[in-house]
Amino acid sequence: MDSKGYIAYFTMEVGLAEAMPTYAGGLGILAGDTVRSAADLEIPMVAVTLLHRRGYFRQRLDAAGTQSEEPVSWPVAELLFEMGPRCTVEIEGRIVALRAWRHQVSGVNGYVVPVYFLDAALPENSEWDRALTDHLYGGDEHYRLCQEIILGIGGVRMLRALGYRDIKRYHMNEGHAALLTLELAYELARQAWELAYEPITQVVTPELVHLIKPLCAFTTHTPVPAGHDKFPVELVHRVLTDYHGAFAGREKEFCPDGVLNLTALALDNSHYINGVAKRHGKVTQQMFQDYKIDSITNGVHAATWAAPPMAGLFDRRIPGWREDNTSLRYALKIPVREIWEAHRQAKRELIARANSVDAAGMDPDVFTIGFARRVTAYKRADLLFVDSARLVDITARSGPFQIIYAGKAHPRDPAGKDIIKHLYQIKEALKGRIRIVYLEDYDIDLARALVAGVDLWLNTPQPPLEASGTSGMKAALNGVPSLSGLDGWWVEGCIEGVTGWSIGQDDGGLENHDRRAADAQSLYNTLETLILPLFNHEEGRYAEVMRNAIALNGSFFNTERMLNQYIAKAYFK
Ligand SMILES: *Cc1c(COP(=O)(O)O)cnc(C)c1O
Repeated sequence: MDSKGYIAYFTMEVGLAEAMPTYAGGLGILAGDTVRSAADLEIPMVAVTLLHRRGYFRQRLDAAGTQSEEPVSWPVAELLFEMGPRCTVEIEGRIVALRAWRHQVSGVNGYVVPVYFLDAALPENSEWDRALTDHLYGGDEHYRLCQEIILGIGGVRMLRALGYRDIKRYHMNEGHAALLTLELAYELARQAWELAYEPITQVVTPELVHLIKPLCAFTTHTPVPAGHDKFPVELVHRVLTDYHGAFAGREKEFCPDGVLNLTALALDNSHYINGVAKRHGKVTQQMFQDYKIDSITNGVHAATWAAPPMAGLFDRRIPGWREDNTSLRYALKIPVREIWEAHRQAKRELIARANSVDAAGMDPDVFTIGFARRVTAYKRADLLFVDSARLVDITARSGPFQIIYAGKAHPRDPAGKDIIKHLYQIKEALKGRIRIVYLEDYDIDLARALVAGVDLWLNTPQPPLEASGTSGMKAALNGVPSLSGLDGWWVEGCIEGVTGWSIGQDDGGLENHDRRAADAQSLYNTLETLILPLFNHEEGRYAEVMRNAIALNGSFFNTERMLNQYIAKAYFK
Protein backbone atom coordinates (compact mmCIF):
# COMPACT_ATOMS: atom_id res chain seq x y z
CA MET A 1 0.00 0.00 0.00
CA ASP A 2 3.00 2.29 0.45
CA SER A 3 3.04 3.14 -3.21
CA LYS A 4 -0.31 4.85 -2.68
CA GLY A 5 1.18 7.40 -0.29
CA TYR A 6 0.56 8.14 3.36
CA ILE A 7 -2.59 9.03 5.21
CA ALA A 8 -1.71 11.88 7.58
CA TYR A 9 -4.10 11.82 10.52
CA PHE A 10 -4.28 15.11 12.45
CA THR A 11 -5.86 15.15 15.89
CA MET A 12 -5.72 17.51 18.87
CA GLU A 13 -5.85 14.60 21.31
CA VAL A 14 -4.95 10.93 21.24
CA GLY A 15 -5.46 8.21 23.87
CA LEU A 16 -2.71 5.66 23.43
CA ALA A 17 -1.79 4.51 26.92
CA GLU A 18 -2.70 5.14 30.55
CA ALA A 19 0.71 6.63 31.15
CA MET A 20 0.24 9.23 28.40
CA PRO A 21 -2.46 11.72 29.47
CA THR A 22 -2.72 13.25 25.99
CA TYR A 23 -6.48 12.83 25.69
CA ALA A 24 -9.59 14.26 27.34
CA GLY A 25 -12.30 11.86 26.28
CA GLY A 26 -14.11 10.23 23.40
CA LEU A 27 -12.38 12.11 20.57
CA GLY A 28 -8.92 11.14 21.80
CA ILE A 29 -9.85 7.54 22.54
CA LEU A 30 -11.28 7.24 19.05
CA ALA A 31 -8.04 8.66 17.62
CA GLY A 32 -6.01 6.11 19.58
CA ASP A 33 -8.24 3.24 18.46
CA THR A 34 -8.03 4.48 14.86
CA VAL A 35 -4.24 4.44 14.93
CA ARG A 36 -4.20 0.97 16.52
CA SER A 37 -6.49 -0.43 13.86
CA ALA A 38 -4.50 1.31 11.12
CA ALA A 39 -1.44 -0.58 12.39
CA ASP A 40 -3.40 -3.86 12.43
CA LEU A 41 -4.65 -3.26 8.88
CA GLU A 42 -1.18 -2.12 7.75
CA ILE A 43 -2.49 1.19 6.45
CA PRO A 44 0.40 3.61 5.73
CA MET A 45 -0.75 6.14 8.28
CA VAL A 46 1.18 8.77 10.18
CA ALA A 47 -0.50 10.65 13.02
CA VAL A 48 0.21 14.18 14.27
CA THR A 49 -0.85 15.67 17.60
CA LEU A 50 0.42 17.95 20.39
CA LEU A 51 2.51 16.77 23.31
CA HIS A 52 0.33 18.08 26.17
CA ARG A 53 3.15 17.90 28.69
CA ARG A 54 0.73 18.76 31.54
CA GLY A 55 -2.07 16.57 30.18
CA TYR A 56 -5.77 17.36 30.53
CA PHE A 57 -6.16 17.14 34.31
CA ARG A 58 -6.38 14.70 37.16
CA GLN A 59 -9.80 14.77 38.78
CA ARG A 60 -10.17 14.95 42.56
CA LEU A 61 -13.54 14.76 44.24
CA ASP A 62 -14.06 15.72 47.88
CA ALA A 63 -16.69 14.20 50.18
CA ALA A 64 -19.37 16.48 48.72
CA GLY A 65 -18.48 15.67 45.13
CA THR A 66 -16.80 18.99 44.46
CA GLN A 67 -14.34 18.54 41.63
CA SER A 68 -10.87 20.01 41.67
CA GLU A 69 -8.30 19.66 38.93
CA GLU A 70 -4.62 18.89 39.21
CA PRO A 71 -2.14 19.13 36.36
CA VAL A 72 -0.51 15.87 35.39
CA SER A 73 3.14 15.39 34.69
CA TRP A 74 4.44 12.43 32.78
CA PRO A 75 7.87 11.14 31.76
CA VAL A 76 7.89 12.24 28.13
CA ALA A 77 11.47 11.21 27.41
CA GLU A 78 10.90 7.70 28.81
CA LEU A 79 7.82 7.04 26.72
CA LEU A 80 8.62 8.85 23.48
CA PHE A 81 11.59 9.11 21.17
CA GLU A 82 12.91 12.58 20.36
CA MET A 83 13.29 13.24 16.65
CA GLY A 84 16.14 15.35 15.24
CA PRO A 85 14.41 17.52 12.61
CA ARG A 86 12.84 20.80 13.71
CA CYS A 87 10.47 23.25 12.10
CA THR A 88 9.07 26.67 12.96
CA VAL A 89 5.80 28.54 12.85
CA GLU A 90 5.31 32.28 13.22
CA ILE A 91 3.02 33.49 16.00
CA GLU A 92 2.46 37.20 16.62
CA GLY A 93 5.59 37.92 14.64
CA ARG A 94 7.74 35.60 16.76
CA ILE A 95 9.42 32.53 15.34
CA VAL A 96 8.37 29.52 17.44
CA ALA A 97 10.57 26.46 17.06
CA LEU A 98 9.01 23.00 17.29
CA ARG A 99 10.35 19.54 17.81
CA ALA A 100 8.60 16.20 17.51
CA TRP A 101 8.52 13.16 19.74
CA ARG A 102 7.62 9.79 18.26
CA HIS A 103 5.51 7.00 19.66
CA GLN A 104 5.24 3.81 17.63
CA VAL A 105 2.00 1.87 17.59
CA SER A 106 2.47 -1.74 16.50
CA GLY A 107 -0.29 -3.76 14.90
CA VAL A 108 -1.14 -7.45 15.43
CA ASN A 109 1.46 -8.46 12.87
CA GLY A 110 4.08 -5.91 13.79
CA TYR A 111 3.31 -3.15 11.27
CA VAL A 112 4.15 0.22 12.83
CA VAL A 113 2.20 3.48 12.64
CA PRO A 114 4.19 6.44 14.03
CA VAL A 115 2.49 9.15 16.07
CA TYR A 116 4.34 12.50 16.25
CA PHE A 117 3.79 14.75 19.26
CA LEU A 118 4.65 18.40 18.57
CA ASP A 119 6.48 20.18 21.37
CA ALA A 120 7.24 23.89 21.76
CA ALA A 121 9.23 23.55 25.00
CA LEU A 122 12.58 24.52 23.50
CA PRO A 123 15.11 26.93 25.04
CA GLU A 124 15.08 29.24 22.00
CA ASN A 125 11.35 29.97 22.50
CA SER A 126 9.99 32.56 24.91
CA GLU A 127 8.63 31.27 28.19
CA TRP A 128 5.07 31.86 27.02
CA ASP A 129 5.61 30.04 23.74
CA ARG A 130 7.26 27.12 25.52
CA ALA A 131 4.00 26.47 27.34
CA LEU A 132 1.89 26.35 24.18
CA THR A 133 1.96 22.57 23.97
CA ASP A 134 1.37 21.99 27.71
CA HIS A 135 -2.36 21.94 28.35
CA LEU A 136 -4.99 20.06 26.40
CA TYR A 137 -8.08 22.30 26.06
CA GLY A 138 -6.59 24.69 28.64
CA GLY A 139 -6.23 28.46 28.46
CA ASP A 140 -8.36 30.97 26.57
CA GLU A 141 -9.20 31.34 22.89
CA HIS A 142 -5.88 33.05 22.24
CA TYR A 143 -3.99 30.05 23.66
CA ARG A 144 -6.24 27.72 21.69
CA LEU A 145 -5.61 29.52 18.40
CA CYS A 146 -1.85 29.31 18.98
CA GLN A 147 -2.21 25.56 19.59
CA GLU A 148 -4.19 25.17 16.40
CA ILE A 149 -1.50 27.01 14.44
CA ILE A 150 1.04 24.57 15.85
CA LEU A 151 -1.11 21.54 15.09
CA GLY A 152 -2.28 22.48 11.59
CA ILE A 153 0.56 24.57 10.17
CA GLY A 154 3.38 23.23 12.34
CA GLY A 155 2.12 19.69 11.77
CA VAL A 156 2.43 19.90 7.99
CA ARG A 157 5.87 21.52 8.26
CA MET A 158 7.05 18.87 10.70
CA LEU A 159 5.93 16.08 8.38
CA ARG A 160 8.01 17.69 5.61
CA ALA A 161 10.98 18.08 7.95
CA LEU A 162 10.68 14.40 8.83
CA GLY A 163 10.76 13.51 5.15
CA TYR A 164 7.08 12.85 4.42
CA ARG A 165 6.54 14.17 0.90
CA ASP A 166 4.16 11.62 -0.55
CA ILE A 167 0.99 12.23 1.45
CA LYS A 168 -2.14 11.05 -0.25
CA ARG A 169 -4.70 12.36 2.25
CA TYR A 170 -4.82 14.72 5.20
CA HIS A 171 -7.52 13.51 7.55
CA MET A 172 -8.73 16.17 9.99
CA ASN A 173 -10.12 14.47 13.07
CA GLU A 174 -12.38 17.38 14.06
CA GLY A 175 -11.86 21.03 13.01
CA HIS A 176 -8.93 21.77 15.35
CA ALA A 177 -6.46 20.91 12.60
CA ALA A 178 -8.16 22.87 9.80
CA LEU A 179 -5.37 25.44 9.48
CA LEU A 180 -3.42 22.72 7.71
CA THR A 181 -5.46 23.58 4.62
CA LEU A 182 -3.92 27.09 4.61
CA GLU A 183 -0.44 25.66 4.85
CA LEU A 184 -1.05 23.26 1.99
CA ALA A 185 -2.25 26.14 -0.22
CA TYR A 186 0.77 28.28 0.68
CA GLU A 187 3.09 25.38 0.04
CA LEU A 188 1.75 25.26 -3.50
CA ALA A 189 1.97 29.03 -3.76
CA ARG A 190 5.60 28.96 -2.69
CA GLN A 191 6.34 26.34 -5.30
CA ALA A 192 4.57 28.39 -7.97
CA TRP A 193 6.43 31.47 -6.83
CA GLU A 194 9.75 29.73 -7.13
CA LEU A 195 8.87 28.92 -10.72
CA ALA A 196 7.26 32.21 -11.65
CA TYR A 197 9.30 34.72 -9.63
CA GLU A 198 6.13 36.52 -8.62
CA PRO A 199 5.41 38.00 -5.23
CA ILE A 200 3.73 35.41 -3.05
CA THR A 201 0.62 37.56 -2.50
CA GLN A 202 -0.28 37.23 -6.14
CA VAL A 203 -0.06 33.51 -6.53
CA VAL A 204 -2.41 32.10 -3.87
CA THR A 205 -5.06 31.86 -6.53
CA PRO A 206 -8.44 30.18 -6.22
CA GLU A 207 -7.07 27.61 -8.66
CA LEU A 208 -4.30 26.72 -6.23
CA VAL A 209 -6.69 26.60 -3.31
CA HIS A 210 -8.84 24.29 -5.37
CA LEU A 211 -5.98 21.80 -5.63
CA ILE A 212 -6.07 21.27 -1.86
CA LYS A 213 -9.53 19.85 -1.73
CA PRO A 214 -8.84 16.39 -3.19
CA LEU A 215 -6.12 15.96 -0.57
CA CYS A 216 -8.29 16.55 2.49
CA ALA A 217 -10.94 14.64 4.40
CA PHE A 218 -12.80 16.00 7.42
CA THR A 219 -14.65 14.22 10.20
CA THR A 220 -16.90 16.35 12.36
CA HIS A 221 -17.72 14.97 15.80
CA THR A 222 -20.45 16.96 17.48
CA PRO A 223 -23.55 19.00 16.80
CA VAL A 224 -22.92 20.97 20.02
CA PRO A 225 -21.91 24.56 19.04
CA ALA A 226 -19.12 24.78 21.67
CA GLY A 227 -17.41 21.94 19.83
CA HIS A 228 -16.89 24.14 16.75
CA ASP A 229 -13.97 26.54 17.21
CA LYS A 230 -14.45 30.14 16.14
CA PHE A 231 -12.01 33.03 16.47
CA PRO A 232 -12.56 36.77 15.90
CA VAL A 233 -10.73 37.90 12.80
CA GLU A 234 -8.83 40.62 14.74
CA LEU A 235 -7.35 37.91 16.92
CA VAL A 236 -6.45 35.87 13.87
CA HIS A 237 -4.73 38.87 12.31
CA ARG A 238 -2.72 39.49 15.43
CA VAL A 239 -1.71 35.88 16.02
CA LEU A 240 -1.44 34.25 12.61
CA THR A 241 1.37 36.35 11.14
CA ASP A 242 2.98 33.55 9.22
CA TYR A 243 1.69 34.36 5.77
CA HIS A 244 2.44 38.07 5.92
CA GLY A 245 0.44 40.06 3.41
CA ALA A 246 -0.83 36.96 1.70
CA PHE A 247 -3.28 36.15 4.46
CA ALA A 248 -5.24 39.39 3.95
CA GLY A 249 -5.95 38.41 0.37
CA ARG A 250 -7.76 35.22 1.40
CA GLU A 251 -9.52 36.57 4.42
CA LYS A 252 -12.89 37.11 2.72
CA GLU A 253 -12.85 33.51 1.65
CA PHE A 254 -12.52 31.88 5.06
CA CYS A 255 -13.48 34.61 7.53
CA PRO A 256 -16.99 35.56 6.51
CA ASP A 257 -18.76 37.69 9.16
CA GLY A 258 -15.47 38.62 10.77
CA VAL A 259 -14.99 35.19 12.27
CA LEU A 260 -12.58 32.40 11.49
CA ASN A 261 -14.68 29.26 11.79
CA LEU A 262 -12.48 26.17 11.77
CA THR A 263 -15.35 23.89 10.87
CA ALA A 264 -16.22 26.06 7.86
CA LEU A 265 -12.58 26.09 6.80
CA ALA A 266 -12.42 22.29 6.98
CA LEU A 267 -15.74 21.90 5.16
CA ASP A 268 -14.64 24.24 2.37
CA ASN A 269 -11.39 22.44 1.77
CA SER A 270 -12.31 18.75 1.97
CA HIS A 271 -13.35 16.38 -0.76
CA TYR A 272 -14.97 14.05 1.77
CA ILE A 273 -16.86 15.04 4.92
CA ASN A 274 -18.51 12.73 7.39
CA GLY A 275 -20.38 12.53 10.65
CA VAL A 276 -19.65 9.69 13.06
CA ALA A 277 -22.93 7.73 13.00
CA LYS A 278 -25.82 7.58 10.54
CA ARG A 279 -28.05 9.79 12.66
CA HIS A 280 -25.22 12.25 13.25
CA GLY A 281 -24.59 12.41 9.49
CA LYS A 282 -28.21 13.53 9.04
CA VAL A 283 -28.03 16.07 11.85
CA THR A 284 -24.81 17.45 10.39
CA GLN A 285 -26.28 17.61 6.90
CA GLN A 286 -29.06 19.76 8.32
CA MET A 287 -26.48 22.05 9.95
CA PHE A 288 -24.34 22.46 6.82
CA GLN A 289 -26.70 22.31 3.88
CA ASP A 290 -24.21 23.58 1.33
CA TYR A 291 -22.02 20.52 1.65
CA LYS A 292 -22.51 16.84 1.06
CA ILE A 293 -22.16 15.09 4.42
CA ASP A 294 -21.68 11.35 4.54
CA SER A 295 -21.41 9.21 7.65
CA ILE A 296 -19.06 6.53 8.91
CA THR A 297 -20.09 5.14 12.24
CA ASN A 298 -17.37 5.09 14.89
CA GLY A 299 -15.93 1.95 16.39
CA VAL A 300 -13.54 0.76 19.09
CA HIS A 301 -10.31 -1.23 18.90
CA ALA A 302 -11.48 -4.70 19.83
CA ALA A 303 -8.24 -6.12 21.24
CA THR A 304 -7.75 -3.04 23.43
CA TRP A 305 -11.22 -3.02 24.93
CA ALA A 306 -11.98 -6.70 25.43
CA ALA A 307 -11.21 -7.34 29.12
CA PRO A 308 -8.71 -10.14 29.81
CA PRO A 309 -11.31 -12.79 30.79
CA MET A 310 -13.39 -12.05 27.67
CA ALA A 311 -10.34 -11.80 25.39
CA GLY A 312 -9.21 -15.17 26.76
CA LEU A 313 -12.56 -16.70 25.89
CA PHE A 314 -12.39 -15.26 22.35
CA ASP A 315 -8.83 -16.57 21.96
CA ARG A 316 -10.08 -20.08 22.79
CA ARG A 317 -13.31 -19.97 20.81
CA ILE A 318 -12.68 -17.54 17.95
CA PRO A 319 -8.98 -17.73 17.12
CA GLY A 320 -7.96 -14.88 14.81
CA TRP A 321 -10.56 -12.40 16.15
CA ARG A 322 -7.87 -9.82 16.88
CA GLU A 323 -7.00 -9.39 13.22
CA ASP A 324 -10.46 -10.18 11.90
CA ASN A 325 -12.98 -8.52 14.19
CA THR A 326 -15.84 -9.57 11.91
CA SER A 327 -15.32 -13.12 13.15
CA LEU A 328 -16.70 -12.06 16.55
CA ARG A 329 -19.95 -12.92 14.82
CA TYR A 330 -19.14 -16.54 15.73
CA ALA A 331 -19.67 -15.68 19.37
CA LEU A 332 -23.19 -16.92 18.58
CA LYS A 333 -21.73 -20.43 18.88
CA ILE A 334 -20.14 -19.93 22.30
CA PRO A 335 -22.19 -21.57 25.09
CA VAL A 336 -23.80 -18.81 27.17
CA ARG A 337 -22.35 -20.33 30.37
CA GLU A 338 -18.85 -19.51 29.20
CA ILE A 339 -19.80 -15.92 28.40
CA TRP A 340 -21.48 -15.60 31.79
CA GLU A 341 -18.39 -16.96 33.55
CA ALA A 342 -15.96 -14.64 31.72
CA HIS A 343 -18.23 -11.72 32.58
CA ARG A 344 -18.48 -12.79 36.23
CA GLN A 345 -14.72 -12.65 36.50
CA ALA A 346 -14.54 -9.13 35.04
CA LYS A 347 -17.36 -8.13 37.38
CA ARG A 348 -15.62 -9.50 40.50
CA GLU A 349 -12.52 -7.49 39.62
CA LEU A 350 -14.49 -4.28 39.14
CA ILE A 351 -16.50 -4.68 42.34
CA ALA A 352 -13.32 -5.36 44.33
CA ARG A 353 -11.82 -2.20 42.87
CA ALA A 354 -14.90 -0.12 43.67
CA ASN A 355 -14.99 -1.44 47.22
CA SER A 356 -11.30 -0.82 47.77
CA VAL A 357 -11.51 2.87 46.91
CA ASP A 358 -14.77 3.78 48.53
CA ALA A 359 -15.64 1.01 51.03
CA ALA A 360 -18.85 1.10 49.05
CA GLY A 361 -20.09 -2.33 50.11
CA MET A 362 -20.85 -3.32 46.53
CA ASP A 363 -21.99 -6.90 46.11
CA PRO A 364 -20.74 -8.95 43.13
CA ASP A 365 -24.02 -10.88 43.08
CA VAL A 366 -26.18 -7.81 42.69
CA PHE A 367 -27.25 -6.40 39.31
CA THR A 368 -24.86 -3.54 38.51
CA ILE A 369 -25.51 -0.56 36.29
CA GLY A 370 -22.60 1.46 34.90
CA PHE A 371 -22.57 5.06 33.73
CA ALA A 372 -19.36 6.86 32.80
CA ARG A 373 -18.81 9.77 30.47
CA ARG A 374 -17.83 13.40 30.38
CA VAL A 375 -20.21 15.10 32.78
CA THR A 376 -22.00 17.84 30.92
CA ALA A 377 -25.63 18.93 30.85
CA TYR A 378 -26.76 17.24 27.63
CA LYS A 379 -25.57 13.80 28.74
CA ARG A 380 -28.07 13.98 31.61
CA ALA A 381 -26.08 11.82 34.05
CA ASP A 382 -28.77 12.28 36.71
CA LEU A 383 -31.73 11.28 34.53
CA LEU A 384 -31.96 8.02 36.49
CA PHE A 385 -32.93 10.04 39.59
CA VAL A 386 -35.76 12.16 38.23
CA ASP A 387 -37.99 10.14 40.58
CA SER A 388 -35.85 8.49 43.28
CA ALA A 389 -38.90 7.16 45.12
CA ARG A 390 -39.92 5.22 42.04
CA LEU A 391 -36.41 3.84 41.82
CA VAL A 392 -36.54 2.59 45.41
CA ASP A 393 -39.91 1.08 44.63
CA ILE A 394 -38.40 -0.79 41.68
CA THR A 395 -35.72 -2.39 43.89
CA ALA A 396 -38.48 -3.62 46.20
CA ARG A 397 -40.53 -5.10 43.37
CA SER A 398 -38.03 -6.31 40.81
CA GLY A 399 -34.90 -6.92 42.83
CA PRO A 400 -31.90 -4.95 44.06
CA PHE A 401 -29.42 -3.09 41.90
CA GLN A 402 -26.33 -0.95 42.45
CA ILE A 403 -24.81 1.77 40.32
CA ILE A 404 -21.24 2.76 39.51
CA TYR A 405 -20.56 6.24 38.14
CA ALA A 406 -17.45 7.93 36.79
CA GLY A 407 -16.66 10.96 34.67
CA LYS A 408 -14.88 14.30 34.63
CA ALA A 409 -16.51 17.68 34.05
CA HIS A 410 -14.54 20.16 31.96
CA PRO A 411 -12.84 22.67 34.33
CA ARG A 412 -14.94 25.50 32.87
CA ASP A 413 -18.28 23.67 32.85
CA PRO A 414 -19.98 24.69 36.12
CA ALA A 415 -23.22 22.95 35.11
CA GLY A 416 -21.30 19.70 34.65
CA LYS A 417 -19.62 20.10 38.04
CA ASP A 418 -23.01 20.68 39.65
CA ILE A 419 -24.29 17.40 38.23
CA ILE A 420 -21.47 15.53 40.00
CA LYS A 421 -22.40 17.23 43.28
CA HIS A 422 -26.03 16.39 42.69
CA LEU A 423 -25.12 12.72 42.21
CA TYR A 424 -23.22 12.81 45.51
CA GLN A 425 -26.30 14.19 47.25
CA ILE A 426 -28.46 11.45 45.79
CA LYS A 427 -25.92 8.85 46.83
CA GLU A 428 -26.24 10.08 50.43
CA ALA A 429 -30.01 10.34 50.27
CA LEU A 430 -30.40 6.77 49.01
CA LYS A 431 -27.92 5.26 51.47
CA GLY A 432 -29.13 1.90 52.77
CA ARG A 433 -31.53 1.51 49.86
CA ILE A 434 -29.54 1.74 46.63
CA ARG A 435 -25.76 1.47 46.67
CA ILE A 436 -24.12 4.11 44.50
CA VAL A 437 -20.42 4.72 44.05
CA TYR A 438 -18.71 7.50 42.08
CA LEU A 439 -15.18 6.56 41.02
CA GLU A 440 -12.66 9.38 40.65
CA ASP A 441 -10.57 10.24 37.60
CA TYR A 442 -12.20 8.40 34.68
CA ASP A 443 -9.45 7.34 32.28
CA ILE A 444 -8.57 4.48 29.92
CA ASP A 445 -7.71 2.11 32.74
CA LEU A 446 -10.92 2.74 34.68
CA ALA A 447 -12.98 2.64 31.49
CA ARG A 448 -11.60 -0.80 30.68
CA ALA A 449 -12.65 -2.12 34.06
CA LEU A 450 -16.08 -0.48 33.97
CA VAL A 451 -17.30 -1.38 30.50
CA ALA A 452 -16.55 -5.06 31.14
CA GLY A 453 -17.50 -5.37 34.79
CA VAL A 454 -21.03 -3.98 34.99
CA ASP A 455 -24.16 -5.85 33.88
CA LEU A 456 -25.81 -2.98 32.04
CA TRP A 457 -24.37 0.12 30.38
CA LEU A 458 -26.61 3.13 30.82
CA ASN A 459 -26.54 6.13 28.49
CA THR A 460 -28.98 9.03 28.63
CA PRO A 461 -27.96 11.75 26.15
CA GLN A 462 -30.39 14.44 25.06
CA PRO A 463 -31.13 13.74 21.37
CA PRO A 464 -29.83 14.75 18.90
CA LEU A 465 -26.65 15.84 20.67
CA GLU A 466 -24.83 12.52 21.06
CA ALA A 467 -22.85 12.29 17.83
CA SER A 468 -21.88 8.65 18.29
CA GLY A 469 -20.75 7.57 21.75
CA THR A 470 -18.26 4.73 21.96
CA SER A 471 -18.34 3.47 25.54
CA GLY A 472 -21.47 1.42 24.78
CA MET A 473 -19.54 -0.23 21.94
CA LYS A 474 -16.77 -1.19 24.38
CA ALA A 475 -19.42 -2.63 26.68
CA ALA A 476 -21.05 -4.62 23.84
CA LEU A 477 -17.71 -6.15 22.96
CA ASN A 478 -17.54 -7.40 26.54
CA GLY A 479 -21.04 -8.79 26.42
CA VAL A 480 -22.55 -5.90 28.35
CA PRO A 481 -25.85 -4.72 26.83
CA SER A 482 -26.85 -1.06 26.75
CA LEU A 483 -29.94 0.70 27.98
CA SER A 484 -29.73 3.92 26.04
CA GLY A 485 -31.64 6.70 24.36
CA LEU A 486 -32.02 6.36 20.61
CA ASP A 487 -29.29 8.72 19.55
CA GLY A 488 -25.77 8.34 18.16
CA TRP A 489 -24.63 4.79 17.45
CA TRP A 490 -27.47 3.22 19.45
CA VAL A 491 -29.98 4.04 16.68
CA GLU A 492 -28.03 1.45 14.68
CA GLY A 493 -26.91 -0.87 17.47
CA CYS A 494 -30.16 -1.39 19.36
CA ILE A 495 -32.29 -4.36 18.46
CA GLU A 496 -34.88 -4.21 21.21
CA GLY A 497 -34.52 -7.05 23.70
CA VAL A 498 -31.88 -8.69 21.48
CA THR A 499 -28.76 -6.52 21.88
CA GLY A 500 -30.09 -4.30 24.67
CA TRP A 501 -32.91 -1.83 25.28
CA SER A 502 -33.89 1.70 24.29
CA ILE A 503 -35.07 4.65 26.32
CA GLY A 504 -37.93 6.76 24.95
CA GLN A 505 -39.38 7.01 21.50
CA ASP A 506 -37.34 7.56 18.39
CA ASP A 507 -38.96 10.54 16.74
CA GLY A 508 -36.26 10.85 14.12
CA GLY A 509 -34.17 12.71 16.64
CA LEU A 510 -33.45 15.82 14.60
CA GLU A 511 -35.12 18.18 17.01
CA ASN A 512 -33.82 19.20 20.37
CA HIS A 513 -36.59 19.50 22.97
CA ASP A 514 -36.97 18.59 26.61
CA ARG A 515 -37.87 14.93 26.99
CA ARG A 516 -36.60 14.49 30.52
CA ALA A 517 -39.79 13.35 32.23
CA ALA A 518 -40.89 11.02 29.44
CA ASP A 519 -37.42 9.52 29.09
CA ALA A 520 -37.18 8.87 32.82
CA GLN A 521 -40.55 7.06 32.82
CA SER A 522 -39.49 4.93 29.89
CA LEU A 523 -36.20 4.09 31.63
CA TYR A 524 -38.02 3.03 34.85
CA ASN A 525 -40.54 0.89 32.98
CA THR A 526 -37.92 -0.99 31.03
CA LEU A 527 -35.74 -1.53 34.06
CA GLU A 528 -38.65 -2.72 36.20
CA THR A 529 -40.57 -4.91 33.79
CA LEU A 530 -37.91 -6.23 31.40
CA ILE A 531 -34.33 -5.93 32.49
CA LEU A 532 -34.35 -6.75 36.21
CA PRO A 533 -36.80 -9.68 35.90
CA LEU A 534 -34.68 -11.13 33.10
CA PHE A 535 -31.44 -10.83 35.06
CA ASN A 536 -32.85 -12.03 38.37
CA HIS A 537 -35.08 -14.87 37.15
CA GLU A 538 -33.88 -15.91 33.70
CA GLU A 539 -30.12 -15.72 33.88
CA GLY A 540 -29.72 -17.84 30.75
CA ARG A 541 -31.83 -15.47 28.70
CA TYR A 542 -29.96 -12.45 30.00
CA ALA A 543 -26.77 -14.19 28.93
CA GLU A 544 -28.23 -14.61 25.45
CA VAL A 545 -28.63 -10.84 25.20
CA MET A 546 -25.00 -10.56 26.32
CA ARG A 547 -23.93 -12.98 23.62
CA ASN A 548 -25.90 -11.08 20.98
CA ALA A 549 -24.20 -7.86 22.06
CA ILE A 550 -20.83 -9.43 21.21
CA ALA A 551 -21.90 -11.21 18.03
CA LEU A 552 -24.02 -8.46 16.48
CA ASN A 553 -22.43 -5.30 17.85
CA GLY A 554 -18.86 -6.25 18.85
CA SER A 555 -18.34 -7.69 15.37
CA PHE A 556 -19.44 -4.45 13.70
CA PHE A 557 -18.85 -1.40 15.91
CA ASN A 558 -15.07 -1.66 15.83
CA THR A 559 -12.38 0.53 14.26
CA GLU A 560 -11.39 -2.25 11.85
CA ARG A 561 -14.76 -1.99 10.05
CA MET A 562 -14.67 1.78 10.47
CA LEU A 563 -11.24 2.18 8.84
CA ASN A 564 -12.18 -0.11 5.99
CA GLN A 565 -15.00 2.33 5.28
CA TYR A 566 -12.60 5.29 5.47
CA ILE A 567 -10.37 3.47 3.00
CA ALA A 568 -13.25 2.91 0.60
CA LYS A 569 -14.86 6.33 0.93
CA ALA A 570 -12.20 8.83 1.97
CA TYR A 571 -8.62 7.62 1.72
CA PHE A 572 -8.08 5.68 -1.47
CA LYS A 573 -10.91 7.02 -3.56
C1 LIG B 1 -14.58 5.48 25.59
C2 LIG B 1 -14.20 6.60 26.47
C3 LIG B 1 -14.85 7.83 26.35
C4 LIG B 1 -15.94 8.09 25.34
O1 LIG B 1 -17.12 7.42 25.68
P1 LIG B 1 -18.54 8.00 25.25
O2 LIG B 1 -19.47 6.86 25.27
O3 LIG B 1 -18.36 8.53 23.85
O4 LIG B 1 -18.90 9.04 26.20
C5 LIG B 1 -14.45 8.86 27.19
N1 LIG B 1 -13.48 8.69 28.11
C6 LIG B 1 -12.86 7.51 28.27
C7 LIG B 1 -11.80 7.38 29.31
C8 LIG B 1 -13.19 6.43 27.45
O5 LIG B 1 -12.55 5.26 27.60
